Amino acid sequence: MNWKQFSGNPVRFAQVVYTSSFGDIFFVILTIFNTNSVLLARHLEHLPQFVSDLRAARLFKRRIRENRMLSNNPPAENQEQVLEFVDSCQLPTTWANFHMHAFFEPATGKEHIALTLGEVADGQPVLARIHSECLTGDALFSQRCDCGPQLEMALQKIAQEGRGVLLYLRQEGRGIGLLNKVRAYHLQDDGADTVEANQLLGFAADLRNYGLCDPMLKHLGIQSLRLMTNNPRKLAAMAGLNVTVAEHVPLIIERNQYNNRYLNTKANKLGHLIQPDL
Ligand SMILES: [Zn+2]
Repeated sequence: MNWKQFSGNPVRFAQVVYTSSFGDIFFVILTIFNTNSVLLARHLEHLPQFVSDLRAARLFKRRIRENRMLSNNPPAENQEQVLEFVDSCQLPTTWANFHMHAFFEPATGKEHIALTLGEVADGQPVLARIHSECLTGDALFSQRCDCGPQLEMALQKIAQEGRGVLLYLRQEGRGIGLLNKVRAYHLQDDGADTVEANQLLGFAADLRNYGLCDPMLKHLGIQSLRLMTNNPRKLAAMAGLNVTVAEHVPLIIERNQYNNRYLNTKANKLGHLIQPDL
């Protein structure tokens, strides 16, 4: 299948909507917008993979609802409920001996981490990275994205300065979760780009919620950031949380044959502040 033929087409492909009114009986409604029977037949070949794991799909839908619920709640008012600090410890790494701070998010059961180095609660802007979990990139050396090298570069820069913070948020695959990320990668193997793949699975291009940053930073006593990112949405999210970003520090990663198209899509469709390749 050549997904490129859908480029520029307003077709949203399909949305799988389901209910579970009778125990294990699920009704799958495939809604096709503005498409034709040939395209429909091609789309339908992906239907079994949606149907095969409706339980997982239901879980992800619930996660989206929870994220929306959290994002609708002003963090300042719900700081205690949104995130609980658990404990801190030393975390020696290749580059520096960090402090690791553990947080628990009761609404989702997720566990989040912050790494700090040096004195970060002195009121001066802190070199910072807000990193969303990417198991494949962070831990499995995947070259499909730039997450692993960005994480490594951020920790190196913090170590070089001897002062900084890294917030590690557990929102895998821009918020769609690991299993759906594998599905999205499968669609990308067939030609879809990273945004199209998320949308084909029924998700928005980016579901990440940065509301957790506020209680984490408050707990750490951090008032102002020198934020390492290429993502303008992250900068806008900090503005929305009234977190001061004193400086935007680009975090540019080398391209390879596997991440080249991904980085172009991030630049062209998600507005990331990186130069599109030729
Ligand atoms: Zn990644």
